[in-house]
Order: sequence, then structure tokens, then C-alpha cells
Amino acid sequence: MKDHLETAPVWDAVRQTERCPFCALRSMIEKQSVERFLGGAVMEPDIRIRTNAAGFCSPHHRMLMAQKDYHGYALMMDTRLKEARAQAAPVLSALAKGSLFGGRNTDKAARKLREITSRCLVCESMRDHVKAYRETFFRLYREDGTFRAAFAQGHGVCLNDLPELLEEAGKRLSGEQQRGFLEAVSNTALQSLETAQQDLDALCSSFHVGSEHKNNPRCRGALERGVNLLRGSTFETEELQP
Ligand SMILES: [Zn+2]
Ligand SMILES: [Zn+2]
Repeated sequence: MKDHLETAPVWDAVRQTERCPFCALRSMIEKQSVERFLGGAVMEPDIRIRTNAAGFCSPHHRMLMAQKDYHGYALMMDTRLKEARAQAAPVLSALAKGSLFGGRNTDKAARKLREITSRCLVCESMRDHVKAYRETFFRLYREDGTFRAAFAQGHGVCLNDLPELLEEAGKRLSGEQQRGFLEAVSNTALQSLETAQQDLDALCSSFHVGSEHKNNPRCRGALERGVNLLRGSTFETEELQP
């Protein structure tokens, strides 16, 4: 991964005007990742070793189920459960026998059990890829004036992605470029927040009897867009556009 991740997805994410470019990238990676862990991958030993060891978080289990590949999913879960049981069983047996009774011992048991379900392969893949795409983003920003202009015209970065982007900008851009970046990233965020506020105001008004906003297309998805802008992609936005 690292710097050699292709630039096309970053360009696409900056050019689209529906949502935060990093949320757009994250959603793309999430979909690809969920699809990758089912299908043919279920039969690939190295992927099975990884899914057995790490498993998935609740939201990504829901996405895996939504793929409707019940046979592949069942095979994967069968061996994942086996491995989780193998880790949990000694702890549970020790608890049952009373050999992990009391205070620090029971806390240790709790910690061990918590560790069994502390990872998610999709979340880890999203985190690693977004980090690599951020590097690609800053490389394009440094080298390509067209990219800088597209970013300045694009959708604002959400408040979930903004802090990390600012910290990274301090390391990856220097002098005038950093100043220009801070101006662009702040102006687009302000603009997107203002638009989200107007859309939510319209949605709130639309509930009043006889409201002029009853059929205002901007009300559609306003709630979801408002949440996404604060917390990162929480709701899918494909059908949220006004
Ligand atoms: Zn975002
Ligand atoms: Zn996850």
C-alpha cells in the first residue's frame, strides 16, 4: 500500500460533490472489503486464517449478512466461532472451577474475553487504506494545481475526518501550500456546514401544516447529510440527494 495507491479514487472522491471526500473513499473501501471477505475468498486459506483470528464488528457483520451469501458466510463463521471458542473455553472453564475468582483474577478473565472480539478486519482495512489514500491526497495536492483547484471547489471534509487531515497537513505541506490548503479546507467545510444547516432548517419547517417546504427536494436526506457531516459516513448517501 502506502504511496503507490492509485490516484484515480482520490480524484473521484474530490470531484464528487455529495459528501466528504474521505467518507466517500471510506465507503468505497468498506464495500470492496465486505465483498472481498465472502465469495471465493471463503475458500482461500490465508484469508480464512485472518477471518478466523480477527472476525468482524457488529455493523460489518450486518453488511456481510446483507450480501446474502449464506453458504460462504456460514462456512466462515463456523471456523471463526471454533477459534473464538478455543480462546474463550479455557477462561470460562477456569471461571467455572473458581480458579479465576475475585478481583484482579476476574478482571483478567474479562480482559481476555474482551480481546477475543476486539478486532474487525473490515475496520482495519478501512483504517489502513484511508491512511494510504491520505498520503496520495497530499502528494496530489503538492504536485498538481488542477487537483488543488478541484479540492477548493469540492465538498467540505466532515468534522470526523478534519482533525486528522489538519494534523497530516502540518507534516506533508509546507509554507504557502499549507496556508492555501488551510484556507480551502476551512472554506469548503464552512460552506458544507451552512448548506447542511439550511437543509435541516427546511426539513424542520416542512413538518409544519401548510409549509412551503413540503415538497422541497433539499429536505430529502437532510437529516442523514447533517449526521454524516458531523460524525463521518453514518448513513449511506446514494439515495440521499435532493
Ligand atoms: Zn468524512
Ligand atoms: Zn468493522
